[in-house]
Amino acid sequence: MSPLAAPPATDTETDLRTAAQRDADALVELAHRALDAGDLPTEGGERPQVVVTVSLAMLRGRIGSASLGLGGPINADIARRIACDARVIPVVLGARGEPLDVGRASYTIPTAIRRAVIVRDRGCAFPGCSIPARWCEIHHIVHWADNGPTSVGNCVALCGRHHKLLHHSRWRIDMASGIPEFHPPPWLGGPPRQNPLHTVPDLTRIRQ
Ligand SMILES: [Zn+2]
Ligand SMILES: [Zn+2]
Repeated sequence: MSPLAAPPATDTETDLRTAAQRDADALVELAHRALDAGDLPTEGGERPQVVVTVSLAMLRGRIGSASLGLGGPINADIARRIACDARVIPVVLGARGEPLDVGRASYTIPTAIRRAVIVRDRGCAFPGCSIPARWCEIHHIVHWADNGPTSVGNCVALCGRHHKLLHHSRWRIDMASGIPEFHPPPWLGGPPRQNPLHTVPDLTRIRQ
């Protein structure tokens, strides 16, 4: 796991994690990559999944806590990050918390939008990150729970680590001529940046 536990190679971040935290993050990243590869066995016909129970009001208001099926409560900001690129199934609960109605998957990022974002970003769009597209999640610049559209102009490919950074820090993303541009938090300062590492090679210049 050491390569996954290594501090980021970008000059825009200071890695304050302890060695134990870096190992834990590496283990989560390893699980993410296994899930994304899609070749894990299913359980009860379903692909591996995490069930997070959260109210829409909490997802919008960012207050309160959500619960994981196995593993106790998580805070609202973590629930928002998980819901950013997930299949969301609405469940109406009765007064005693018993499920009254389970809806169909009501929200998921359409495959065409996902592909278009990957074609544009070709990998994690965070400045200096070299993680390829197959290990990226799709992030909503304006969260869908806040009525942000699931459109190419509002979605960005980010690796797990940078997806987490965007949700839990004050980095901000804008679109500049259709390309995601990252504005550093005030404490870091500096101009907005793009990621030059995934640019499309100019095939006309490759000699045979
Ligand atoms: Zn996100
Ligand atoms: Zn990244």
